Amino acid sequence: MIRRVAGRTYADTDGKNGGNFGAVVLDEEVVVIDAGIAHTITKTARDWLSEQFGQPIKKVIFTHSHDDHVFGAQAFESASMIGSMRMGESCKEALKHEWTSSQIRKHADQAKDERPEYWASVQDLQIRTPDILFRDELIIGKFEDITVRLVGGHTADSSIVIVEPEHICFSGDLLFCRSFPYAGDPTCNPDSWIRNLEVLRDARYKHIIPGHGPVCEDEEVVRHVDFLRSLKASVKKALKQAVPVDRFLELGMMPKYYPEAADRRAEGTLVQWYKFYGKS
Ligand SMILES: [Zn+2]
Repeated sequence: MIRRVAGRTYADTDGKNGGNFGAVVLDEEVVVIDAGIAHTITKTARDWLSEQFGQPIKKVIFTHSHDDHVFGAQAFESASMIGSMRMGESCKEALKHEWTSSQIRKHADQAKDERPEYWASVQDLQIRTPDILFRDELIIGKFEDITVRLVGGHTADSSIVIVEPEHICFSGDLLFCRSFPYAGDPTCNPDSWIRNLEVLRDARYKHIIPGHGPVCEDEEVVRHVDFLRSLKASVKKALKQAVPVDRFLELGMMPKYYPEAADRRAEGTLVQWYKFYGKS
């Protein structure tokens, strides 16, 4: 369900459609940010936006190349897709490997009982990837209302989207609100993630729309930074003492954080962080 956050900004954060997504209503168009995973669900939000505002949806901005933020974009047939050049590269690679239709169908079949809507949406999935690319930053709107900025961290292609003058930030997956973050992407850079969250915190946004979980404020960013910092310290310690990933979990070396989703995200996260800090 997409609903108003503040000013001209709307978001769907109920988690039923993979990642969060949202929209900003400008004078002459509606700009969408991320698209969820199931275009069948995203279509309902699209119809609601069209009905409410009577403005065309001309642009969809992607925060990064994870399928739970991208696959729903099929719902916006005629819109331009906007993403960083880095994201464009990631999508090209994904289309050759994990995004082939046989791979996607295989995954969807395995999850059919658990996620029937996702399974149904995959049956006629047409993946939309960015056709308007920017290097570091892109500004949209007559009054420079929307800034898209490539920052990295969660993935090398992670961008944030800032809406002014409302002073609202779509953080993408730099922020998982009230759940254990997924930090296991092979391009995840924990140091840049921490740094970017600190910048985000210092900007004192009125509202932050995270990649997953409810709309939140700075205190949630502070909590997230503290957790990532503690995790970094634990991983470095484990590497020094040659504690393998499975022992790390058995020994309770994982810093305390939201338990939600930890069972499916913790191990992959550790594998990537071991690789990252094992090199330095
Ligand atoms: Zn992600």
